[in-house]
Amino acid sequence: MNYSRQREEVLEQLSCHIDHPTADVIYSELREKDPTISLATVYRNLKLLAQNGSIRRLTFVSGADHFEHKLNPHYHFVCDFCGKVIDVPMQVAETLDEAASQYISGKITGHDLVFHGICDECKAAEKLSVRDDDRL
Ligand SMILES: [Zn+2]
Ligand SMILES: [Zn+2]
Repeated sequence: MNYSRQREEVLEQLSCHIDHPTADVIYSELREKDPTISLATVYRNLKLLAQNGSIRRLTFVSGADHFEHKLNPHYHFVCDFCGKVIDVPMQVAETLDEAASQYISGKITGHDLVFHGICDECKAAEKLSVRDDDRL
C-alpha cells in the first residue's frame, strides 16, 4: 500500500471515532483491514495529519497522545484515574481570548480548556470500593 493511501486510511479510521483514540487504538483497528501496516506508520501519519491541520492532536493528557477528527473549538474533560478524554459541549468563551490579549503582545488565535476529575465509571468503581472498606 502506498504512503498517501495509508494516510487516507488513518484519516478515515479516525473519523469513525467520536472519542479521542490513541495511535495504538487506530493501529489495532487498521491492522484488521491491512495486516502490513505498522504502528510507526500509523503514528507518523497521525502526526503529519495533525501538522497539516486535518486532525487535532491532544497533548494535554499524560501518557500517549490522543487524536480527534473534530476541528471546531471545544473543551475537554480528562478523567485523572483512567485518562479518558470526553468532549464538553458547553459554549466556548470567546471573550477569554479578548481578555487574555491585554497581556499578550502577539495575536491570540484560540485557547484550550481542560477540566479534570473522575469519570462516571471510575466514580462508580470508587463508590464500590468504599463500600467494600465499610464492610471490613
Ligand atoms: Zn475514568
Ligand atoms: Zn474533543
